[in-house]
Amino acid sequence: MYKIPYVNLVAQWQEEKDELLPIIEKVLASGQYISTQVVDEFEVNAAKICNTKHCVALNSGTDALVFGLAALGVRRGDEVITPPNSFVASTSAITHLGAKPIFVDVLPDQNIDPSKIEAAITKNTKAIMPVHLTGRMARMDEIKAIGEKYNIPIIEDGAQSIDSKYLNIPSGKWGKIGCFSAHPLKNLNACGDAGFLVTDDDEIAKKIRILRTHGMIDRNTVKQFGYVSRMDSIQAAILNYRIKKLHLVTDKRRKNAEIYYNMLDRNKIFIPDQRPEEFNTFHTFVIQVENRDLLKEKLAEVGIETGIHYPIPIHLQPASLNLGYKLGDFKNTEDQASRILTLPVNQYLTDYEIKEIAHQVNNLT
Ligand SMILES: *Cc1c(COP(=O)(O)O)cnc(C)c1O
Repeated sequence: MYKIPYVNLVAQWQEEKDELLPIIEKVLASGQYISTQVVDEFEVNAAKICNTKHCVALNSGTDALVFGLAALGVRRGDEVITPPNSFVASTSAITHLGAKPIFVDVLPDQNIDPSKIEAAITKNTKAIMPVHLTGRMARMDEIKAIGEKYNIPIIEDGAQSIDSKYLNIPSGKWGKIGCFSAHPLKNLNACGDAGFLVTDDDEIAKKIRILRTHGMIDRNTVKQFGYVSRMDSIQAAILNYRIKKLHLVTDKRRKNAEIYYNMLDRNKIFIPDQRPEEFNTFHTFVIQVENRDLLKEKLAEVGIETGIHYPIPIHLQPASLNLGYKLGDFKNTEDQASRILTLPVNQYLTDYEIKEIAHQVNNLT
């Protein structure tokens, strides 16, 4: 048992259960568990956060990426540009469509380096997929300009960036499509798998609504063979409750991060500067240090749990063998993989705990 755990979903349940249990019971008592008004309500709520015309509720963030890419016409033989230092789902979504992930290295802040994107574009490039890792948005003005120049659509992997903004425009609004996860560990979290995508494009929204329910356009007519990837009503009800409090979650995480920024000794600990363009929601708080593994161990000894997101870059995963990449291809990503350490930053931590973590990290680094 850690004195300060990395996540605390039990605390969340304790805080919310008196209000959440009746909400869940109401769904159960209705006898209607999928494709209900509760899910429609969630779509309205999520579209509002992202300032988009549509939201389509799905079963996971991964499905949002797969369906989003499919709706952009990505298929076998196509290429999609993306960074190699994400959660594996960003890349696996591309491969599920038979397309090839074309990796582009990242900046010191762990997000895709826009200055390296143009060199990766070929006649087969069908989409550019930045990942807003840690809740910090990629440099979307520059990425969007490249997309416009080459007429290539942008699809955002916003799984870690709900409620984040760049130049005051929300995550999900910048791309043709924005994909989000409501996995239990995300900032807006369900009690199981859930995800959604947002778009201003009527056709794309319509297409994905059909795809998520077997390709049916009405009860008996299948327009094209589809999938089953719906958000359960229970999860939607939980998310409707939690989405109303999302701004509070964001505020608290930002306050926690502020303490880290003020306290951590930046002579020996690297944390990316907060640029004025960014409004970061701190899905994770990642520092970069020498001797990361040793620091992780020492923090564990004093009762502080930390994470590593992610220790093995995607291009070096066994699953990537046939993609033709090798060690040395993406210097920044690879360097970061050995230096990054994720500190607890969740909304259930007290100021005292954050200060204690910062103090210990300074002392033990
Ligand atoms: C969590 C995550 C996903 C996948 O979301 P699921 O809902 O778990 O399928 C995709 N991309 C990134 C960057 C993530 O962090």
